[in-house]
Amino acid sequence: MALDDTREKSLSFTPMVIEDTMRNGRGLSDQWADTVVVRPRTTERHITVHKRLVLAFAISILTLIIVTVIAVLLSVKFEECNADSTASASHGNLTKFNQSRDALFNHRGEDSFQPWRQLRLPGSLRPLQYDLHITVFMENFTFSGEVSIELQCLNSTKYVVLHTDRLAVQKAVVYSEGKKTRALKIHRQFRYQANQVFVIAMHRELESQKNYKVNITFQAHIEDELLGFFRSSYVLYGEKRYLAVTQFSPTHARKAFPCLDEPIYKATFKISIKHGSTYLSLSNMPIEASISEEDGWVTDYFSRTPRMSTYYLAWAVCNFTFKETVTDSGITIRLYARPDAIQRGSGDYALHITKRLLGFYEDYFKVKYSLPKLDLLAVPKHPYAAMENWGLSVFVEQKILLDPEVSSISYLMDVTMVIVHEICHQWFGDLVTPVWWEDVWLKEGFAHFFEFLGADFLFPDWHMEKQRFLTDVLHEVMLLDGLASSHPISQEVLKATDIDRVFDWIAYKKGAALIRMLANVMGQPVFQMGLNDYLITHMYGNAGRDDLWNKFSEAMQKEGRDINIKEVMDLWTLQMGYPVVTITKNDSVDNTVTISQEHFIFDIKHSAPSNSSFQWQIPLTISVGNSSHISPESIIWVSNRSESHKMGSVDDGSWLLGNINQTGYFRVNYDLRNWRLLIEQLMRNPEVISVGNRAGLIDDVFNLARAGYLPQNIPLEIVRYLSQEKEFLPWHAASRVLYHLDKLLDRTEEYSIFSEYILKQVASMYHRLGWPTSAGNGSVVQATYQTEELRREVIMLACSFGSKHCHQQAITLISEWISSNKNRIPPNVRDIVYCTGVSLMDEDVWEFIWMKFHSSTAISEKKVLLEALTCSDNTFLLNRLLNLSLSSDLVPDQDVIDVIIHVGRNPHGRHLAWKNFREKWDILNTRYGEALFINSKLINGVTEFLNTEAELNELKDFIQTNGGGAAVAFARAVEIVEANVRWHSLFEEEFFQWLRKSPTS
Ligand SMILES: [Zn+2]
Repeated sequence: MALDDTREKSLSFTPMVIEDTMRNGRGLSDQWADTVVVRPRTTERHITVHKRLVLAFAISILTLIIVTVIAVLLSVKFEECNADSTASASHGNLTKFNQSRDALFNHRGEDSFQPWRQLRLPGSLRPLQYDLHITVFMENFTFSGEVSIELQCLNSTKYVVLHTDRLAVQKAVVYSEGKKTRALKIHRQFRYQANQVFVIAMHRELESQKNYKVNITFQAHIEDELLGFFRSSYVLYGEKRYLAVTQFSPTHARKAFPCLDEPIYKATFKISIKHGSTYLSLSNMPIEASISEEDGWVTDYFSRTPRMSTYYLAWAVCNFTFKETVTDSGITIRLYARPDAIQRGSGDYALHITKRLLGFYEDYFKVKYSLPKLDLLAVPKHPYAAMENWGLSVFVEQKILLDPEVSSISYLMDVTMVIVHEICHQWFGDLVTPVWWEDVWLKEGFAHFFEFLGADFLFPDWHMEKQRFLTDVLHEVMLLDGLASSHPISQEVLKATDIDRVFDWIAYKKGAALIRMLANVMGQPVFQMGLNDYLITHMYGNAGRDDLWNKFSEAMQKEGRDINIKEVMDLWTLQMGYPVVTITKNDSVDNTVTISQEHFIFDIKHSAPSNSSFQWQIPLTISVGNSSHISPESIIWVSNRSESHKMGSVDDGSWLLGNINQTGYFRVNYDLRNWRLLIEQLMRNPEVISVGNRAGLIDDVFNLARAGYLPQNIPLEIVRYLSQEKEFLPWHAASRVLYHLDKLLDRTEEYSIFSEYILKQVASMYHRLGWPTSAGNGSVVQATYQTEELRREVIMLACSFGSKHCHQQAITLISEWISSNKNRIPPNVRDIVYCTGVSLMDEDVWEFIWMKFHSSTAISEKKVLLEALTCSDNTFLLNRLLNLSLSSDLVPDQDVIDVIIHVGRNPHGRHLAWKNFREKWDILNTRYGEALFINSKLINGVTEFLNTEAELNELKDFIQTNGGGAAVAFARAVEIVEANVRWHSLFEEEFFQWLRKSPTS
């Protein structure tokens, strides 16, 4: 939160308002300022102060002495505070300290006098309607604005507190509304930057139950940073062009206009935008009228929005073109992008699926889409993949544009999921908005969960919700949430600068996993009924998690099922982590099993005792099976630490299987005998167990062993069944855990014993499936997803674990490309081929790929080429790539992070990436520090596979001197590296011992 004063001063306009409270010192900005003479800046204050001093003189000498004493004390305080505030402009830490001191202050009961010192708005005023007019100057990247806010006074107050940040307020007027509108006398006005607010102190109190209007004119920059109202550029036909667009979530609307910038303050907005006639403008609503002036300016007047939160407001000024389509219910969908992309048809896919998705959601939620139009805007730069502004969703180009001839299936899937996600938000987010950011998972969890339902609607054969959800969401987040440094999904957050922190994988992926678990417990019709009721009740308003739980409980009651959803779900949302359920068959003959739960944690030997008190109410589904048959699932609610349950008949040859289809958010462990029976079953006839459970068993077994809950040979034994596995999902689950193990072992002496063992498990499937034959024959959409993805997965495993055949194939394909200069490599395996080629072939191939990276125009291809460059064995080339990425603009900004992370995954580059990361941290932190999400991706990406004692010490040393800004990400990094180091010291020997004796190695 660096306050950049120089930037504001470089503007030519002169703000009428006193610069702000920070400059005058904290102690003087408030009640003291009226009574003591310190650098008065306005005539009004000067006179007030002067009079009072004269009065003091006149009344008595005694008073004078008192005043003098106070003044002396205060001047001391002033010195202190002044020092504080100068420092805080450059030091985030000090600012944080000052703010927490403010929070302390508030608790002492002074808040009623100084509402601007509170971290949240005081709540005495409620906005009803905003009229906002913006004039955009693209030639010098500034804009000016005028906002008129209609406010309802709920509790009488002297202060109008509005959010502003980086805005130069020129003039503010407050009117009383009623029979005759009149301007009210303002006592003083000032900015309080610590909380990003602008305060208008009135001469007299505003009265409760009356309406007022605040008019403010202001000016600001169109930022070069990706927040607020910002600019970016692209090259069209050799000419650089600019566009300007907004990103207001979570707290940046205040950078574009003064407003009550918290989600709860919903209001209607009427926007008009004046811009040069060579540009067009877009906003949430359609244009009602457009008026051209003779001097080359146009003003677009947009229709009034429904009630909505400030952070969903959006506008853009650009010279894009568009394509459009209309849904059956008459909603116009347009896709705006740079003209060459529109011409190439790169937006057609997105447009096509958006139309179908609006229909899907309207049917599923039984609530119509609320606005007359939906625009999708593809921009070259954006801090997130996309942002779901109501009626004007903004996407970074890579997540919406698609060239069918060169895009792989995974790229298509990526684009699809992002679009499905953003469209879902039009209901979960835009229409019903979480009350506050602690429950951001309410919208993000839903949108992430619906990515899979929506994709299943578009591509029923993909079985996304039953399959890919497991590997991409459930397995992924259980890795994170199994750390002691995890946090509950609902996390308290107050400060604006901390809000970015809540948008993490826990909110998205754990949110989605919990919603999926609940949907499965409730059953789809009841779940849908609950959602419909929730949306109808809260539309155009806000809701918290309890509102949702209530609707779900009601829906269950209507079905005659009495479950207190809140009671169950609070345990999952307010506690961090998740349980491991252990199912043990009792030796006695009475068919009972013991089911126990404990907090799963990777650091099993060192876990903090406080965690052992964690307990959940777990909907455990369970089946009994034998060689050819599996029983229907039954559900057991496990709520005690350990309980006994009677099963049907469980004879000696029968196994138990828990968490059927992995719908639950927990791991399952068994006694060793049961594990043996399950492995035998997989070897003999895997299809008795569902695809989801096969994938789940693999993920559980590897992670249970990694954390020390199981012997190290169990995971190595389970992968031997893979030669029987014909489905993509278990292979995908296996390759995820195997790559992880690979990175742990890739610098050990006996690595080849491991890689040969894995290659042996992969070989037969690799030879059975072979390579895809032709390139770019028809659309990827038509390709059979499961088959192609399975083939791809197996080829990737074969090439990475050292298959000679696979290597030769990659070399041949690359050589053909170089000699013919025609790329016939099938898009779906290009990343594997390029990477393998770069790692095995000479420097010329690296240069060739580097050249292709620069000449390629297709966005998806560019990314694949860049990542291939990180695969080289040659540390000189890797170093060159890192230097070019960090110090030139040859590599796009958003890809720099990926380059460093990928170099770190390469065993030859791991040390280099880690060294560069430390040396360039200052640059990286300045460039990406604002976007915490990117920052923690970088920190965890670079450190994830460090696994030696020395590296752990380097990491700890580094954090001591540099780690202040990203404490959460660094704490996680330390825990992961500690776990890696511990795995080596505790389990590496046991692991290799089994491998050395293994019958197949
Ligand atoms: Zn989202």
